[in-house]
Amino acid sequence: MLAIELLLFALGASGGSFLGVLISRYPRKGGLDLWGRSYCDNCGRQLAWWENIPVLSFLFLRGRCRTCKAKIRPEYFWLELLSGLSFLVTFFWWQQQNLAWLWLGIYLLLTWFLLAIFFFDRHYQIIPDVFLLPFLFFILLLPHLYFPAAFIGLFFFLFLYIVTKGKGMGLGDAKLIFVLGLWLGLAKMLLLLYLAFLAGGLVAGFLLWRHRARWKSRLAFGPFLVGAALVSWWWGDYILARLPW
Ligand SMILES: [Zn+2]
Repeated sequence: MLAIELLLFALGASGGSFLGVLISRYPRKGGLDLWGRSYCDNCGRQLAWWENIPVLSFLFLRGRCRTCKAKIRPEYFWLELLSGLSFLVTFFWWQQQNLAWLWLGIYLLLTWFLLAIFFFDRHYQIIPDVFLLPFLFFILLLPHLYFPAAFIGLFFFLFLYIVTKGKGMGLGDAKLIFVLGLWLGLAKMLLLLYLAFLAGGLVAGFLLWRHRARWKSRLAFGPFLVGAALVSWWWGDYILARLPW
């Protein structure tokens, strides 16, 4: 059954492509123009449908505009590829759980919203409520909710927010950890916090070492939370079962 895997990858890549449109058109004034055609950023030419196929177009155009040869920014290619792969992993996870098809739809939506939060925070250092609220809504449909973990996560982040006077963590991170804790429960939330702080520390250390950042510059923490949440969700049971304690 390779057909369904391909279909899910294509669905995920298209979801990533749509997210790329949201990200690139977000700052423009006069509202979001979601349905307008795409243009080359450099020469302004309207793109043909086959120049807009997620993942594939970038590959067969070799990363350049067909007419003006300007480089196409590779971020959107990576976004689409990552999104396609994430949908696939979610599908494999769903297969192992023996859940009905309806749940696959809900978990794919959760995957998309996690990626949306990841890339929006990375680009704009904000976690918009237009993503957080629908994400919370779909979490509330799940059979098991973990309110103690949600409030422990929330209070921990509010504490960090007050101690660092809002420079370390944003309120968006506090809201995000509340929803993630509600969904994943205490053990997987602790695992995700451990992974997120570890990865965040390593990346911050690397950027300082390469002089790409200064002590004062702000590194969005949301992408680390989301990345760690995906790992903890997909493989948390496996990892936690193999810990020595
Ligand atoms: Zn061009």
